[in-house]
Amino acid sequence: MEVSRRTFFKAGLLGGVGLTVFGFDAAPLLAQTQGLKISRTTETRSTCPYCSVSCGVIIHTIGDKAKNVTPQVVHVEGDPDHPINRGTLCPKGSSLQQDIMNERRLTKPQVRRPGSTKWEDISWDQAISDIARLVKKTRDDTFIATDSEGRTVNRLESIAFTGGCTDTNEFNFLVVKTMRSLGLTYIENQARV
Ligand code: SF4
Repeated sequence: MEVSRRTFFKAGLLGGVGLTVFGFDAAPLLAQTQGLKISRTTETRSTCPYCSVSCGVIIHTIGDKAKNVTPQVVHVEGDPDHPINRGTLCPKGSSLQQDIMNERRLTKPQVRRPGSTKWEDISWDQAISDIARLVKKTRDDTFIATDSEGRTVNRLESIAFTGGCTDTNEFNFLVVKTMRSLGLTYIENQARV
């Protein structure tokens, strides 16, 4: 049977209503095609990182069970069991898949050295080692043990810390303990902004 372009699109629009123009019933085939997108995905629950509302999301990935395949995020949707958004997402959150699968996304630490106009990629080991060295130097150079009237204050005003809305309670607990132990007074979180 010859299928014209017009007939083909018409049949496509009709969907599962007994497609017989191809000589067989295509309804089961179409039904399976529609389900393919997330039928073999792994679901991972997470939090939208964009704003302080912190909506719950489900991230669908494929390929994460195969050793020789790089996992791909194929779909992100609102988590219907999440108490904050109950499955809904605003337009920004709905575009999360394009944020995750984006060639312009930074996947390595970068540093811009003093006086330089360029950012350079560095390894995680180097980033952690540089941060530790600079935090110690800054603290050694600027720690304030007493105020102008001689009262003990033990504070560090030259370093600030800010967290993100996807940080867990446990992570935030450890961060605040660590920062307070260094004497930081400027501690903030994006979820409060
Ligand atoms: S989905 Fe929208 S409202 Fe919810 S956290 Fe993301 S940006 Fe904020």
